Amino acid sequence: MTATAAPIPDLGELADVSASLESAPASAIVEWAWEEYGDDLVLAASFQDCVLIDLAVQAAPELEVVFLDTQYHFAETLWYVDVVRKRYGLNLRVMEPEIAPDNRWQRDPDACCALRKVEPLGRALEGKAAWMTGLRRVETPARANAPIVSYDVGRGIVKVNPLATWTDVDVEGYVRDRELPEHPLADRGYRSIGCWPCSRPVDHGEDARAGRWAGTDKIECGLHA
Ligand code: SF4
Repeated sequence: MTATAAPIPDLGELADVSASLESAPASAIVEWAWEEYGDDLVLAASFQDCVLIDLAVQAAPELEVVFLDTQYHFAETLWYVDVVRKRYGLNLRVMEPEIAPDNRWQRDPDACCALRKVEPLGRALEGKAAWMTGLRRVETPARANAPIVSYDVGRGIVKVNPLATWTDVDVEGYVRDRELPEHPLADRGYRSIGCWPCSRPVDHGEDARAGRWAGTDKIECGLHA
């Protein structure tokens, strides 16, 4: 059965909401999203850290959290997912690709991301009204103007970025203050952690995203297109 598409919201109202939340704490943005969308809201987590999860479960303990298991995650990432899942009793949904492991990442990384990330996320969001992400403006130039709340035209649902205005220092401070568990690779120079074939540690002073798809001009996986 085909899932019913969420009705298109009033985009002007959505822009006003986004502007009104621009200076709001991330916790207030999460609360707004949960009140607005309830069970029709999904949090897509990369499990590079658990800042957004920690914020979200305080407002909505039963919120569905989606992890995209590309089949190419570091063993440390899978371990970390389990640690975080148990710590919060997460309502975790693990999405897997519909293809077997292959060497597409070597010859066509865009297609690999499309099949192992974008397509499974699309399935996870079917029938939902909104998704929430840990995207931050400082991460890449393409994310520099990301709104707090917007309409994800490609997926036909609302997108909420509660951490959009956060700096790296904000994240580090929150992790420290809340004594959050950290990804084991974080102190081994991995400042942006994706699949093992496409992530490497970065040198001191090097951009965090330089470790992703290093040596190519690819900078995004397509989830935030
Ligand atoms: S990050 Fe690399 S291995 Fe992971 S889905 Fe994209 S191309 Fe494939």
